[in-house]
Amino acid sequence: MSFDTLGLAEPLLRAIHEHGYTTPTPIQAQAIPAVLGGGDLLAGAQTGTGKTAGFVLPMLQRLSVVQPVLTAKGRIPIRALILTPTRELAAQVEESVRVYGKYMKLSSMVMFGGVGMQPQIDRLRRGVDILVATPGRLLDHAQQRTLDLSHIEIFVLDEADRMLDMGFVHDIKKVLALVPAKKQSLLFSATFSDEIKNLADKLLNKPALIEVARRNQTAELIEQKVHPVSREAKKDVLVHLIKKNDWDQVLVFTRMKHGANRLTEHLNKSGITAMAIHGNKSQSARTKALAEFKTGELQVLVATDIAARGIDIDQLPHVINYELPNVPEDYVHRIGRTGRAGSTGEAISLVCVDEDGFLRDIERLIKRSIPREVIPGFEPNPNERAEPIVLGRMVIGEGAGRGGQRHHAGGGGGGGGGRGGNGGGGGGSGGGRGRNDSRSGAPAARPQGPRPDGQRSGKPPARLGQPKR
Ligand code: AMP
Repeated sequence: MSFDTLGLAEPLLRAIHEHGYTTPTPIQAQAIPAVLGGGDLLAGAQTGTGKTAGFVLPMLQRLSVVQPVLTAKGRIPIRALILTPTRELAAQVEESVRVYGKYMKLSSMVMFGGVGMQPQIDRLRRGVDILVATPGRLLDHAQQRTLDLSHIEIFVLDEADRMLDMGFVHDIKKVLALVPAKKQSLLFSATFSDEIKNLADKLLNKPALIEVARRNQTAELIEQKVHPVSREAKKDVLVHLIKKNDWDQVLVFTRMKHGANRLTEHLNKSGITAMAIHGNKSQSARTKALAEFKTGELQVLVATDIAARGIDIDQLPHVINYELPNVPEDYVHRIGRTGRAGSTGEAISLVCVDEDGFLRDIERLIKRSIPREVIPGFEPNPNERAEPIVLGRMVIGEGAGRGGQRHHAGGGGGGGGGRGGNGGGGGGSGGGRGRNDSRSGAPAARPQGPRPDGQRSGKPPARLGQPKR
């Protein structure tokens, strides 16, 4: 199949061809005609399926053929709103709008927190057709009345499941109250929990349903492997693998921000260019790291789960789980960074005895066992005993995993009762699978108190207890 048969206008086809796409991906083949038809859409698609072009291309076409209704002040209003969970995803989606809309006269803007409001206000004043935003900053503008969403014709919720995981449900509801009832709405989600279905029921009117990747399936093209290692040997194993195989463009995951920083230092000392990307880094530092990684200047990007969400790098050859995630679904998201859009990739996990429970949870979720391969010279010490994994104020007991013991670390969270540190009495006693990043992202489930890395958070946790998935 070619793009020419999907009903797209010539300026869009020219931009696509220039960008090097020849064949639509399955989500594009289904979503483009559905969105061009003007109806609502509920699409099950993960990052890496080409979903962004699936909604951006028909959106551009629809906006270009209908004349905008000017505002009372005679300005062109914001006509399309795309909400994303993270800054990185917002930036990438907006970049796609610019790439695909190169030969159209529509303007776009990306809006997220962590940067000044005033330049955003100035940009809004100049007129924007398509706004790509994260919910927090969007609502800040709405509150200050620097933003008018009353003329939105097309509304997209991208990675809706992740938004709910990050505690954005109330923000989404507030945004929905600001956009007109009559509009075309598109909801993209990798998974369909009851929460997503509720949201879809509220938002969508007789939507077309498209699902291209079944829930929790890991892509066939990704070769997965577990290297059992000793706890202390992990960093040396990583250096060994990178050097021996002469790898570049390696995305490495850690659970916590400080772990990402420490590992980055070790890699740099070992002569490997690496940078960390996580919620504590400034937006400019994150953008720089991502740009250098994309161009190949940077060999390794070390990321926490939420920071990595939305990272879009074509054909990323290697993803390494330096630490397994405590939320098994994150494993699926992590390794989705490799083997993208039809290319093969390799996902390697360095697993020490503390993480056996996490590995069991992951294998249960993906319904397959991941082959183990001991690296000669780095055999795990058979006498090593499992130690509890500390996630901020949470300790996940030996044989970690959902079934494992959880209890609060006795004052181990650092910060000694900083702002918001109320001894965890705010409902965290049942424990939760603590996440490791801040809003854009915000923690999905973390007991109140100091952040896992001892940083103080200005905002209370978005949700307490076990998140529903
Ligand atoms: P997405 O799922 O939207 O994040 O896209 C995943 C990656 O696939 C991006 O790097 C796109 O540039 C790439 N991509 C999207 N559509 C196509 C296509 N039709 N052919 C080849 N690559 C594509």
